[in-house]
Amino acid sequence: MSLNRALMGAVMWCGRNIFVIAVFCFACGKQKSEPTAVAPKTYFTHGDPAKLVEGATMDTKSFLTAANSTTYDNYLLAGIVTFYEKSEVGTATSSETGQEASTGATTAAAKWSFSSITPDYLYKPESVVEDQDFALKFTNSGSELSLASICVGATYSDCTAITVLHYSKRTDGRGISFLASYVDAEKGKALVGIIFSKPSSSASATVDTKYKYLAGPGIVTKWKETLGVQICGSPGAERAAEYTKGVNSWLTSGKLSSTMSVNLTSTTVITPFTDLVSHCITTIDNFLIEDQDSSSVMGITLVTLDLGTAEILGGQILMMRTSLEKIVATQPADIQTSVRSDIFLLTATHEFGHLIGLDHEFSKKSDGTQLYQSIMSYDTETNLGSPIPQSHDKESVVAAYGPI
Ligand SMILES: [Zn+2]
Repeated sequence: MSLNRALMGAVMWCGRNIFVIAVFCFACGKQKSEPTAVAPKTYFTHGDPAKLVEGATMDTKSFLTAANSTTYDNYLLAGIVTFYEKSEVGTATSSETGQEASTGATTAAAKWSFSSITPDYLYKPESVVEDQDFALKFTNSGSELSLASICVGATYSDCTAITVLHYSKRTDGRGISFLASYVDAEKGKALVGIIFSKPSSSASATVDTKYKYLAGPGIVTKWKETLGVQICGSPGAERAAEYTKGVNSWLTSGKLSSTMSVNLTSTTVITPFTDLVSHCITTIDNFLIEDQDSSSVMGITLVTLDLGTAEILGGQILMMRTSLEKIVATQPADIQTSVRSDIFLLTATHEFGHLIGLDHEFSKKSDGTQLYQSIMSYDTETNLGSPIPQSHDKESVVAAYGPI
């Protein structure tokens, strides 16, 4: 406990730095009576955001052709996230800062379809709704459609050339994604992930609203297939052990292990965060992401949801080593090793909670203290003392996944 006291003291003493364990959920909180439009998210980074996907194995070959493009007609925009090199001076960003997931726009989601603008193709919403006032322009080589630019304006004639880094498609075709880089005139180098999903007509299941899921309180958000999660790249034996411990801590209770199907393995291959087939826990080195000027992101989980059923279609965890080491560096030398271990374990455990569908748990008692002890809270002092899923966290998972 003295270790935790020291750590909290140091973090608070630093004062202006807020450390955020972030989730970016593609389509969080959007499961209503009909799918609603998602709001774009923005993060700021120190340096070229392409470092976020450094070392990743990319697939630059498009799966789209003029002939198969109609397969993806009437898909919904499930999410768009952009990492910019530079922040806008004096402007707060839209990403989370310790509050409940934003409810965002409530406009009905538009359906996107391909149209031919010989010789090219446009993928655009059927009607322009809030935050969906752009189109994707594909060039047609004859053998494939390649994403070439993002276009805005009434006739989508104002286009910014982009470089596609990675195409991804779920094997069942229910989700497709594009990862691209470009240079924004004001905000510098940019990395953008854009994900679309096939609409589903069924609604999400609901349970007691005291359980907080990414789709909203009481709105069951879960994997329906076995979650094959991998520790990707070479984070080092100590970090890999902490990630393993963090994942397994959700599976140790008998009920949890029988209701959730998780298969944890390791691979040296890293896939980028937009990939919809693999689900990596990737350690990002020498790089900082900011929510706002005063915060650093310790970890991010990127989750893609079906906008109707809240089924999880894709997910990736990024562990931000530089941010975590910044915290470790505030500690006396003799406890840094154990602080490092605690903070990586805490972050991995928390992020895996997001990956399986849990939102933050910020419910408060009337005196302002945490209503439920939860690894999904920002109650760092408690969580460092016991960096494992608490009983409310486990109940939330069981309410979503079982009992079977
Ligand atoms: Zn979080």
